[in-house]
Amino acid sequence: MDDTLFNEQIETMGAEELRTIQEIKFSKQLDYVWQKSLFYQKKFGKYGIKREDIKSLEDLIHLPFTEKDELRKSQEEHPPLGTHCVAPMDDIIRIHSSSGTTGIPTFVGITRHDHKVWTDITARSLYAKSVRPTDILIHAVGLTFFVGGLPVKDAIEHIGAAFVPIGTGASDRVVMTTKRLGGNALHCTPSYAQYLADYVRKKYHMDPSELGFRKLVVGAEPGGGVPTVKKRLQNEYQGLVSEGMGNSDAAPIIFGECPAQQGMHFCAQEYIFPELIDPDSGEALPMKDGAEGELVYTLLDRECCPVVRFRTRDRITIFTDPCECGRTSFRIRCIGRTDDMLILLGVNVFPSAIKDVITSFRPRTTGDMIILLDKPGPKVEPPLKIQVEYSPGEKNLDTLKKELETSLRDKLVFRADVELVPEGTLPRFEMKANLIKKLYEEA
Ligand SMILES: [Zn+2]
Repeated sequence: MDDTLFNEQIETMGAEELRTIQEIKFSKQLDYVWQKSLFYQKKFGKYGIKREDIKSLEDLIHLPFTEKDELRKSQEEHPPLGTHCVAPMDDIIRIHSSSGTTGIPTFVGITRHDHKVWTDITARSLYAKSVRPTDILIHAVGLTFFVGGLPVKDAIEHIGAAFVPIGTGASDRVVMTTKRLGGNALHCTPSYAQYLADYVRKKYHMDPSELGFRKLVVGAEPGGGVPTVKKRLQNEYQGLVSEGMGNSDAAPIIFGECPAQQGMHFCAQEYIFPELIDPDSGEALPMKDGAEGELVYTLLDRECCPVVRFRTRDRITIFTDPCECGRTSFRIRCIGRTDDMLILLGVNVFPSAIKDVITSFRPRTTGDMIILLDKPGPKVEPPLKIQVEYSPGEKNLDTLKKELETSLRDKLVFRADVELVPEGTLPRFEMKANLIKKLYEEA
């Protein structure tokens, strides 16, 4: 595979040189925020912070965090886009929406300049994920609203690859179009890649590898970074699975995994300043190899909806050792989202980690599972109820149940009550998988 970079200069830049660029952009952006954003004028005013108190990125820790709920509230109180939206409507060229996984969706506007920045970051990330101009990419993700749609189209076109917009819920069209056009790359969620593999096997009696996808460009949920899920997809398709991650308030795809598969590279070097924090205390953590925490973004180049110290609620592990691809940026694995986290007797458990354990039992399990919650989390009284699908060939269900429970206890340190259900019982997902089923009425 060709090992070129999308922007060699910035992607191989040393830390000091990059910091200089970031400082210049930070200072300019902060001037802009202080002058234009009613949202931040009020927020910083409340804390008694003055512009001159913040001299460099080092002082960033003195600024308060921005929570998603504050943006939502600002939008409800000051429609249409909230007081954090500082661009006039005649400069705004598109309005997207966050996926709404945590409440009412919020809108995100972009100007022509923001669009250029988004396209650059997203293209850099997709290029890291091995998308090349010669590729024919089948886009099996919705094109509407969601930032994984149109902005990805723009970025794919910017790279020069051929973008084939198919969308969701059209698996037959994916199969037919891929065959006729010779599509070699598939952009979708990891859940859909699995769904499609099962679908073609059942309906077309076809091995998924015969589809010809040698590149699976996945994102929007943690699956692509779950080791057993990734391995399974690579075996199914005989292709490279590369994971990406973005944020609708920051940029569509900010991280992209290179073929070395040692985590996703940060690809918004001069556009976003990332921080790692302790999610409980809010204290900034050093970005050193192996560090774990929550990602926080400060946008360095945004006209419409600039955000400062925005808490993503994404829990990540950082890797800083050199990567063979030559990119100098740090890499991450996403462990999960704070909103999905469960706490069992003080132990944090992420659904994607449970999925990893259940999938490691393939072919005895199908890999499909769902967590049942009687009451709202994150605190759960053990045992945690999990439904797991067993494969038709599996005869010894008592043993399998015990082995699954033991493995979950050994690896993730919590007590589970596994209920085995026949293959095909649990829902399949064509977009993001929902690994938690709420058995209670939501307030
Ligand atoms: Zn790399």
